[in-house]
Amino acid sequence: MLTIAQAERLIGEHLPCLPIESLPLAQCSGAVLRENIYCERDQPPFDRVAMDGMALDSAAPRGGVRRLRVQALQAAGEPPLSLASRASCIEVMTGAVLPAGCDAVVPIEQVSVADGEAQLAAGALVEPWQHVHRCGSDSRQGSLLLAAGTRLAAPEVAIAASAGMARVRVSHQPALAVISTGNELVEPGEPVLPHQIRRSNVYGILAALRGHGFQRVADDHVRDEAETLKSRLRFHLDTHDVLILSGGVSAGRFDLVPRVLAELGARRIFHRVAQRPGKPLWFGIAPTGAAIFALPGNPVSTLVCLARYVIPALFAAMGQTPAQPERIALRKSFDVATELGSFLPVRTEVDEAGRAWAVPRPTNGSGDFVALGGTEGFLELPPGPGTLPQGFVAPLYRW
Ligand code: AMP
Ligand code: MG
Repeated sequence: MLTIAQAERLIGEHLPCLPIESLPLAQCSGAVLRENIYCERDQPPFDRVAMDGMALDSAAPRGGVRRLRVQALQAAGEPPLSLASRASCIEVMTGAVLPAGCDAVVPIEQVSVADGEAQLAAGALVEPWQHVHRCGSDSRQGSLLLAAGTRLAAPEVAIAASAGMARVRVSHQPALAVISTGNELVEPGEPVLPHQIRRSNVYGILAALRGHGFQRVADDHVRDEAETLKSRLRFHLDTHDVLILSGGVSAGRFDLVPRVLAELGARRIFHRVAQRPGKPLWFGIAPTGAAIFALPGNPVSTLVCLARYVIPALFAAMGQTPAQPERIALRKSFDVATELGSFLPVRTEVDEAGRAWAVPRPTNGSGDFVALGGTEGFLELPPGPGTLPQGFVAPLYRW
């Protein structure tokens, strides 16, 4: 059976790369950039006044001149004025261009103005270039600001705007279909009989996908009937980039998903991974090119497989530069019973010294999703059996 790492590698090797689209910048939050963005102009593009105050030539106060004639006022957005003489100063606002002939700004709090003259406060020091954000000191025209593969959060969107990009090339959002299977499942809000259970997995999957910024998500449910399953899956394969199924991939008589997918011509890349929970995981590629993740139906398995494999794969398909998973130390020792790699739900806490710890929240088996309440994700633990000591560092996957 495949290890977790092998399964992950196979997914990466077979996953299609999603197409590129050009979007208005305001719609790009959370998207993965598919082009490099370069600095349009030096940043800042001019010697930028960094305080409201008086711009002057610092040689004047160095030579003992403390009272200057206020020559003019220059606000942000105005072309630069020129200082008439060393005995003058120009009142400037934060964001204004430093007037020609000036090399320093004295904050307004250190100046008293009367009768058109500015008196520098006794203690006010005036160093060359003080309170001036020098032209090009942050970045140079033509330098790389954002590399393709970057996920755009608030700072990156602002940087792209500063580079003058009205639209940017980003990855197309994948069209996702989330499909539950099982005759026992009943929608929340519908009456439920004693032998039935709530259809909870899909809601967890949808919440995770939406939380990660995926917006094109369809939701369907199919009973365990081969012909119905086949026609619904055919439809979804024709209309979506990625299918995320839950249930029907184990060894039961009504676990029809692998067989039906094979009949639809889907290529099985793997079925079953040496992991607990989530062993029956199935992954394949349809003739349409759509990727199919068939997750085991047990709710803990479903969410774990989603976070461990599907979400990272979706970002990889969008061209995101791969990142190492976060790592965190176990708060207390933990006994691993299984010979398989395992996923341990945890909540995180930060101690008085500012160190982050993972506090185990073991479940009562892969059906016990109630135990996941309040957890932030899970650790990936190496195969056992054995005892992992307090402080053992493991990768953390967030839901
Ligand atoms: P399966 O993988 O179809 O054999 O399902 C394994 C277990 O997970 C069974 O107890 C199912 O009832 C349960 N299950 C399957 N799908 C869901 C779902 N969408 N929501 C909640 N439980 C589910
Ligand atoms: Mg089932």
